[in-house]
Amino acid sequence: MKLSDIATTARHRLLAAQTHSVFDPVDQPVASTDASTDSDVRTAQLEVDVLLQFVTGRSRSTLYAWPDATLSSNEIKAFNDLVEERIAGQPLAYLTGQQEFWSLPFDVSSDVLIPRPETELLVETAIDYLHNLPAADVLELGTGSGAIAIALANEQPQTNILATDVSSDALSIAQANADKVSASLNKQLRIKFLQSDWFEAIYTMLADSKSALTSDQTGQTPLFDLIISNPPYLSEDDPHLTESIRFEPRNALVSGVSGLESLQTIASGARMFLYHNGMLALEHGYDQAEAVRLLLQNSGYNYINTHRDLAGIERVTTGLWITSTATDNT
Ligand code: GLN
Repeated sequence: MKLSDIATTARHRLLAAQTHSVFDPVDQPVASTDASTDSDVRTAQLEVDVLLQFVTGRSRSTLYAWPDATLSSNEIKAFNDLVEERIAGQPLAYLTGQQEFWSLPFDVSSDVLIPRPETELLVETAIDYLHNLPAADVLELGTGSGAIAIALANEQPQTNILATDVSSDALSIAQANADKVSASLNKQLRIKFLQSDWFEAIYTMLADSKSALTSDQTGQTPLFDLIISNPPYLSEDDPHLTESIRFEPRNALVSGVSGLESLQTIASGARMFLYHNGMLALEHGYDQAEAVRLLLQNSGYNYINTHRDLAGIERVTTGLWITSTATDNT
């Protein structure tokens, strides 16, 4: 069987199955049953190409240049198995074990959330803030694959980043990704990884007062110029949880009945660890900007600001911790 025929059959099967990508926007109704659009066809073709590249090790241009090429029976079986898994809803990134973020390659598995393009806004926001603070100390909560911390460390070579996650499996992936990016770019990334349930291990460090994980010269309190997080923010009954994102770790996606619980925990806890004028930067859901601004305000942050992603959606909200004027209303 010719490569082009295998690809066409797979594209038709994917289209008929109406698979949803984890990148499908969550601000739209679920599962329309309309006929395929041009964009559906392009997406299905792209997925076929990615899987064919993955199975054959050939580049996309090679695949297109030799449409009459034949595949080995092992390659055909491996490809068809992946198409079946994709039809069953597995995200493409888990099938190939790869996802690009900030133009860097990341290994991913079902232990970590697949990095989303809109999360690049959180990295951009951090870079803007750190512009005049090159040797800043940054805390990232819930690092998952390490995408945010690694992208930031790559852009800000002088910045010290402490990246935490509650999952040791996620931290192994994040560490491996940091090592890989560091080796491929031949540069040192200033990131330390720490297992922690939000601020828990940071509180312990504070209690011990021994560990100087950051460059804080007092050696007493680990303090940060910037705390960033893309925490879980979907509500328990979000209808999208029946789609491809159901294959991703639930504790990286879902946060309580409202979806706001982790955002609240972080906004409240961060106050203890931010320097005067330090920034908290949070990614949140498409319809949560107002609620997040309010919870930052109620936690005593100032200069609260929401930034829009490339789709024009309010996606990242920031606040500054001003120690002299802050009030605690929570
Ligand atoms: N943005 C993700 C989604 O739409 C959710 C990620 C998160 O909860 N942090 O599926």
